[in-house]
Amino acid sequence: MALIVQKYGGTRVGDVERIRNVARRVAATRQAGHDVVVVVSAMARETDRLLALAHQVAERPNERELDVILATGEQVSIGLLSLAIQELGCRARSFTGNQVRILTDQTHSQARILRIDTRRVLEALEAGEVAIVAGFQGVTAEEEVTTLGRGGSDLTAVAMAAALGAQVCEIYTDVEGVYTADPDLVPTARKLRRISYEEMLELASLGARVLQTRSVEYAKNYHVPIHVRSSFSEGGGTFVVAEDAAMEKVVVSGIAYNVNEAKITVAGVADRPGVAAKLFGAVAEANVVVDMIVQNVSQDGSTTDISFTVGRPDYRKTLEIVRGVAVEIGGAAVLGNDQIAKVSIVGVGMRTHSGVAARMFEALAREKINILMISTSEIKVSCVIEARYAELAVRTLHDTFGLGEPPREEEPLPVSTGAAPGRAGRGGRRGAARRGAPRARAARRR
Ligand code: ADP
Ligand code: ASP
Ligand code: MG
Repeated sequence: MALIVQKYGGTRVGDVERIRNVARRVAATRQAGHDVVVVVSAMARETDRLLALAHQVAERPNERELDVILATGEQVSIGLLSLAIQELGCRARSFTGNQVRILTDQTHSQARILRIDTRRVLEALEAGEVAIVAGFQGVTAEEEVTTLGRGGSDLTAVAMAAALGAQVCEIYTDVEGVYTADPDLVPTARKLRRISYEEMLELASLGARVLQTRSVEYAKNYHVPIHVRSSFSEGGGTFVVAEDAAMEKVVVSGIAYNVNEAKITVAGVADRPGVAAKLFGAVAEANVVVDMIVQNVSQDGSTTDISFTVGRPDYRKTLEIVRGVAVEIGGAAVLGNDQIAKVSIVGVGMRTHSGVAARMFEALAREKINILMISTSEIKVSCVIEARYAELAVRTLHDTFGLGEPPREEEPLPVSTGAAPGRAGRGGRRGAARRGAPRARAARRR
């Protein structure tokens, strides 16, 4: 008997039939004797629809009202799922973020969880009910509705698991686990049996949307084991767990890409102290988050070039700001490019293996892909390239680092799952089918 948190993403609750499927799985877990807390997302595409609605009414919607609107998506799913579970003769009760009391700060659309009150959820469990909690939403001390950023139901689930001391946080999505690359893009991508929090954190923040970045950070901080899996099969998915010695043997664990950034270059700025501070001070004042920064060595001793990347939604705004300050810092020209992609390789093994970056650059060069910017950390190398080469680059790197090959040895799984005891670790049949028959989008792109 364990306490299990299960999170079902938007596609899992995308229509009534799928909601019934989820209800059957939840009821089965409950009937196996486990306490179950379920976190659900809004039905597929619902959050996008609500966002579009708001933008039809206001060009720049007020953030408070936007959160009021967006939080409705999850409220519909918890009610529907609760009903579906009750229809199976199992007891269930739904809770909004406010009803649980998922207390957050006041940062609308990107709120941080401050505290979770577990009392009502525990009462429901003690009464033999399944507790169904709305993902993505919270409430401030002033009773204002907040949301946790896109993909935020993952964070709700992990935070609930941490607060309740759950044995595992199961994330049910439309893929069978975390793959060596986005399986939508790379048909030969291989499902990883285990991945470290550090690697998952990098992959998520570099574009692999399978888990929200902040949810991985939270899981790492609170030692919550995550099991990413599919509700289509009983096969074991991927465990996201603390790093161990075996993981360092693998040099590259995964590839991520992000086509949602843009690059700005200020050419010919004065090469003297205070210039970068002025430029990035102005950008920071506008609440724009800067990702990569590259400053060239001065050729003539008096001027240099600075390039940096920002999220594409902030591109126009940042260009305007930079044009404003460029004059003050002796900038000759401000150039922008929003047709870029960032391709990254990630692996804790990079700490102990040399020549990894060189192999990456060689592979890109073989495909005649020009590298516009490079950044590295202990466990990742990222290259900015032209957006049109993104998919080619991901597939090439996937081949170069042999990621499609099966792992050399099987390792025991660290945590047993509640829903399918004894089954974890076997490759799902759907996984094999998927690899053989990539989705239409992937096939088209090839
Ligand atoms: P949910 O709605 O369940 O939260 P998401 O769409 O947020 O699902 O995340 C699942 C998607 O993440 C998959 O459909 C897949 O295309 C994408 N993805 C990107 N990179 C990876 C990866 N390395 N492993 C698995 N899935 C990935
Ligand atoms: N419904 C929210 C979104 O689409 C949260 C989530 O699905 O995790 O971003
Ligand atoms: Mg998601």
